[in-house]
Amino acid sequence: MRTDLTTAKPTASQADIPGLLRQIAPMTAEEVVRWALERFGPRIVLASSFGAEDVVLIDLLMNIDRRARVITLDTGRLHQETYNAIDAVRERYGLVTEVFFPNADDVQQMVAEKGLNLFYHSIENRKRCCAVRKVEPLRRALSGLDAWVTGIRRDQNVTRAGVEKLEWDDGNRLFKVNPLADWSWDEVWKYIREHNVPYNALHDRGFPSIGCAPCTRAVQADGDLRGGRWWWEHPETRECGLHNPAPGPQPKT
Ligand code: SF4
Repeated sequence: MRTDLTTAKPTASQADIPGLLRQIAPMTAEEVVRWALERFGPRIVLASSFGAEDVVLIDLLMNIDRRARVITLDTGRLHQETYNAIDAVRERYGLVTEVFFPNADDVQQMVAEKGLNLFYHSIENRKRCCAVRKVEPLRRALSGLDAWVTGIRRDQNVTRAGVEKLEWDDGNRLFKVNPLADWSWDEVWKYIREHNVPYNALHDRGFPSIGCAPCTRAVQADGDLRGGRWWWEHPETRECGLHNPAPGPQPKT
C-alpha cells in the first residue's frame, strides 16, 4: 500500500523520542522506513552519500513510495564512481536525487586562505573543509524539514556504537531516523545481492566507506570499516560533522 505523503500524521516533538523509540526499536528496517514516511510524509528526506547502506535505504524507500525524497551533497571532491552510482539509481528507479552544493564564496575563501589540500595539514583544516563542503549544505537541505533518514550503523565506528533507530539532531533541530542502526555489514551486502541493488563500484575495490576522493582510501578486507576515511587521524575524530553538528546556526568558517 502506498503511503499518502499529503496526509501524513502530525509529527512528534523531541520529548516524544523515548516513547517512539520503544515503538520502533523492534521493527525491521523496512517497517521503520514505512513508519517514518507515514509519520513525516513530505517533511522527511533520505540524505544519501551513495554508499552501500544508502543504496539499501533507497531500495526500501522506492519500494514503499517512489515520491520519497533523496538528497545528496556534491562536495566538489567526489569520486567519478559516486556520480556513476547516482546515475545508476536514477536509471533503476527513475529517482531524481536532489543535489546540494557548497556555497561557492565560502569554498573560494577557504581555498584562497588554506589551499586546495588543506585537510591534510591539520584536523582544524579538515573540519573546516567538511563544514564548508558538507555541514552547511546539509543544513540548507534539511531546513524546514521534520526528519531525515541516514544509513549509519552501530558497528561502523567507535563514534557510532550508541546509535539508536530514532534520535534528535540538535544541530539541525529535527529527528534523525536510522533504520539500519542494528544491521551488520554482512546484512547490508546480503540485501544488495538479493535485491540486485545498484551500488558504488568502489566497494569492489576495497572501499567499505566512501566519502570524498582525497579523504577516502581502500582498506584491508578484515580492516576497520571506516579505517579508510581520514586515515591520518585518530578513530575518535573521524566524523565530518554531519552526524554531530554543533547546535544552532553554522558559524562562518
Ligand atoms: Fe573536505 Fe575531505 Fe571533508 Fe570532503 S571529506 S569535505 S574533501 S575534508
